[in-house]
Amino acid sequence: MTIAIYPGTFDPITNGHQDIVQRALKLFDRVIVAVAENRRKQPLFSLAERVRMVTEVLQDSPQAQVIPFSGLLVDCAKQHQARVILRGLRAVSDFELEFQLASMNRRLRPELETLLLIPSEKYTFLSSHLVREMASLGADIGEYVHPNVVKALKKAYQQ
Ligand code: ADP
Repeated sequence: MTIAIYPGTFDPITNGHQDIVQRALKLFDRVIVAVAENRRKQPLFSLAERVRMVTEVLQDSPQAQVIPFSGLLVDCAKQHQARVILRGLRAVSDFELEFQLASMNRRLRPELETLLLIPSEKYTFLSSHLVREMASLGADIGEYVHPNVVKALKKAYQQ
């Protein structure tokens, strides 16, 4: 059984993240979506809210599991017997950070492989940051996130 772990802040989960999970589910027996606490980024949604939204969005994918995590990703991967770290690559601009992360994680745990997946082209410009920005300004974001996430963003920005 090959298990992959997909870490991220997911603040909030977008259709781009979901696209990556669906692609990964075709390649792996189980995909663990690891929602990072990530205090440094000062997320809009709490860790519990982010985990809840990811769980709701992936409720029809039984091979996907959602967990909260803080600390080192390589330790979390080991604990869950994951052999592969998944990340999404939208554009060249993502490459530098992803390359750094993959190289450092390889140093920390050489047997763990990082796999970068490219989303459908309609999501290559999409980010949680952009979705939050649009929602805060009252734009319609229904095309980019799950309906439950639309609701949560409306509530967060009290619209
Ligand atoms: P992080 O703070 O770890 O970057 P994010 O939730 O922003 O957390 O992103 C998690 C992963 O998902 C990253 O590898 C990022 O490049 C990828 N990602 C984010 N948005 C998209 C998207 N629209 N399409 C594909 N991958 C994406």
